[in-house]
Amino acid sequence: MSNDAPLTEVPAHLRTAVDTAKQKVADLHAELPRWELVVWTAGNVSERVRNDQGEDLLVIKPSGVSYDDITAEAMVVCDLDGNLVEGDRSPSSDTAAHAYVYAHMPEVGGVVHTHSTYATAWAARGEEIPCVLTMMADEFGGPIPVGPFAIIGDDSIGRGIVETLRGSRSKAVLMKNHGPFTIGGDAKGAVKAAVLCEEVARAVHVSRQLGEPLPIEQQHVDSLYERYQNVYGQR
Ligand SMILES: [Zn+2]
Repeated sequence: MSNDAPLTEVPAHLRTAVDTAKQKVADLHAELPRWELVVWTAGNVSERVRNDQGEDLLVIKPSGVSYDDITAEAMVVCDLDGNLVEGDRSPSSDTAAHAYVYAHMPEVGGVVHTHSTYATAWAARGEEIPCVLTMMADEFGGPIPVGPFAIIGDDSIGRGIVETLRGSRSKAVLMKNHGPFTIGGDAKGAVKAAVLCEEVARAVHVSRQLGEPLPIEQQHVDSLYERYQNVYGQR
């Protein structure tokens, strides 16, 4: 954020980066119904576009657009105060929350929000998902925490996400009575966290139907997380 006047258009030197992000964010929205994370128009993906002048932008889905009508051209661009910078339609109603996260967590490059069923069921109970699966230790480094109850309309959702995730290694937070928000180094990373959050929410729920899932010792959680975040995968 800056004290200068708000941007009224995408600066020329960011044109290519913004257009690339629009295509990427549009394509990633298709992953949400594909993994059964959304119904109707609920759920959104955004990505940060870094500006070396210090005024970052974000690309996000417009409000109320059907998943079948999502194209790169339809995506909108906002500043980190949530003001519309470019686009024909109003931005997603969750834009303020996404913008708050980018403004206060400089390491975050992508944000996703869904109401995926199992993760939302944990959120409805206000219960964190305990770290009882190696997949959770790998991706989230511990339990998936619960954030405060917050209502859309001011920055309280964004504040709740940031305050909860700052004290955690988790890339996901279950906003109480609402649903999951996830973060990543880019939009794809945040989508991956949203898919895995729902998967572990489902698996731990199923496990609890038959008994009490066994916790993983902290030292093993730490080494799994360390390995997966730093060693695993193609370099
Ligand atoms: Zn929501």
